[in-house]
Amino acid sequence: MSRPELEPDPFPLRRIRVTAVRSVTPRMLRVTFGGEALAGLTLAAPDQQVKLCFPRPHQAEPVLPAPDPDGDIMRWYAAYGAIPEAERPWMRSYTIRAHDPAAGTVDIDFYLHGADGRAHHGPATRWARAARPGDTLGMFGPSAYFATPIPLGASDWTLLAADGCSLPALATVVEALPPGHRAVAFVQVADATEEQTLVTDGELSVHWLHGEASGAEAVVDAVRRATLPSGKPYAWLAGEAGAVRALRRHLVEERGYDRRAVDFTGYWRHRLTQDDAPTPEDLAEARERLKAAGGGDGGGGAA
Ligand SMILES: Cc1cc2nc3c(=O)[nH]c(=O)nc-3n(C[C@H](O)[C@H](O)[C@H](O)COP(=O)(O)OP(=O)(O)OC[C@H]3O[C@@H](n4cnc5c(N)ncnc54)[C@H](O)[C@@H]3O)c2cc1C
Repeated sequence: MSRPELEPDPFPLRRIRVTAVRSVTPRMLRVTFGGEALAGLTLAAPDQQVKLCFPRPHQAEPVLPAPDPDGDIMRWYAAYGAIPEAERPWMRSYTIRAHDPAAGTVDIDFYLHGADGRAHHGPATRWARAARPGDTLGMFGPSAYFATPIPLGASDWTLLAADGCSLPALATVVEALPPGHRAVAFVQVADATEEQTLVTDGELSVHWLHGEASGAEAVVDAVRRATLPSGKPYAWLAGEAGAVRALRRHLVEERGYDRRAVDFTGYWRHRLTQDDAPTPEDLAEARERLKAAGGGDGGGGAA
């Protein structure tokens, strides 16, 4: 499987500027970004993640280290980590929902978690709620560094599972399904107002599940109860880390799916921010990914 063709820029760090903001659903906000830095961006694959850098409240723009002259990503990341905490931008993972090469813009969908007032919302969500044209973020990626090609069409059918914040990525995956390819999706959103129309050339059936994401085990239960298609599956799972791991365990241990055909990514962690240290479970997951990347028999992971 070849890597997706990515932009020629050897160091994928850009400043991007908000050009428009609109609501897709009550909890999903679409922010369009433009800026000279986006000219020449190419995206040839779905599910392209980026790291967004958000300014601190007293800053108009995020403080970003200069791109490393040798293109060394780890050296750049060390320079980022050396910025004093009070000045260092918050870094969060997001997905390019759409790219308009003619206009030189990208859309990113922000799931406004914490809308029920029960959860704490973090700096990325706080920024999105207040976003206005002209606001500026740093964007690291898309990059082959963290792009895992999805083997679309290499299986007999595809299983997809997502929650509110992984729905934008799932939408890009279904848009890329080959014509007629069978896919079954389980998506947990807060309620019916959060359901979206998913565009695809595939034969997609979607099971919308309603409830707060902290009860994301609902997806696991729904998949466990479901009669799924026969044939060689490929599974793409993204959502709360514990729920995604439970779903992967069900597919591999109870349904006997080949673990290498199950891509699983924790998009967020219950009661933990993206700045918090990894838990023992996160580290075990990372080890499995390394094993898989080295050609061992560990499970797959997308991030
Ligand atoms: C590869 C990848 C791609 C992603 N793409 C997108 C995307 O396109 N759109 C998008 O909206 N998100 C996306 N996410 C998820 C997003 O990065 C997280 O939700 C992130 O934690 C949001 O940052 P924050 O600053 O708002 O909250 P944080 O400061 O990280 O967390 C603050 C609190 O909010 C809770 N929290 C965080 N996320 C959620 C959530 N989704 N639901 C409920 N509670 C939550 C945490 O448990 C914590 O208690 C992606 C994540 C990954 C790994």
